[in-house]
Amino acid sequence: VPELPDVENLRCYFDATALHKRIERVKVRDARLLETSASKVHSVLEGRRFTETARRGKRLFARACDDGGGGATKDVDRDGCEWLALHFGMTGSLEFFEVTGARPRGTALEIGFEDGGTLAVTTTRRLGKIGVARSPQQYAREHGLGPDALEVGRDEFVETIGRRRGSVKAALMNQSAIAGIGNIYADEVLFQAGVHPETPAAEVDRATLAELWRVMRRVLRTASDRAADADEMPRGWLLHARNHGADCPRCDGSVEKLSVSGRPTYICPACQHKRGGER
Ligand SMILES: [Zn+2]
Repeated sequence: VPELPDVENLRCYFDATALHKRIERVKVRDARLLETSASKVHSVLEGRRFTETARRGKRLFARACDDGGGGATKDVDRDGCEWLALHFGMTGSLEFFEVTGARPRGTALEIGFEDGGTLAVTTTRRLGKIGVARSPQQYAREHGLGPDALEVGRDEFVETIGRRRGSVKAALMNQSAIAGIGNIYADEVLFQAGVHPETPAAEVDRATLAELWRVMRRVLRTASDRAADADEMPRGWLLHARNHGADCPRCDGSVEKLSVSGRPTYICPACQHKRGGER
């Protein structure tokens, strides 16, 4: 499931395969993923070039400009450029291919370039989204997306998470509070911070929330730097022990599986505690 580090990795892939080349062919193969009309996707992309990408939470944005466009990005794009907005759902990805007929399974959108190569936006379970926007900021406002988990400041994080109803895990995963964290990284952050995922968010003391913010940034940065490849993550991470009864990577205890907010959740009961205290 693409979370912030996975989408950051896809952004690097997009940059390496799709920037600065003239877009000559656009084909929508699964209109059910569109947040807009197919004709709008065509008009935003055809004849243009991608000049830059951006990411907010689990969304990837790519700026499409006419030749000569591409100046500084402000809240609303003043160069007449527009942005493609991609959400990868449960199984979405990107795949660049050069041979005609090599279209990958689950292709929802094909973007063909002047060099003959094609970038495919794929999803095998049809849970992604393809949209367009005047700017990433405008898209975030319209979709109620909170600040990116690597951009949010400590004080805003403490205030935002501390006033959520429900569990601290649900708060971390709520994209309108903080954008970018899903099930796997929520468990990882809570494990490394020693916080039990069922702790009510409103009962976590401020010092622990500040520690959660610090751990969240370290985890997401490390995972992004390692191309979101689970095999490359540090040995002490819970990621390697997501099985009921597995050895805890940090103590002599065993990992337990719970259900929190309806999601499979792994914890070490010896390492993680319900944290409350003075606010
Ligand atoms: Zn442990």
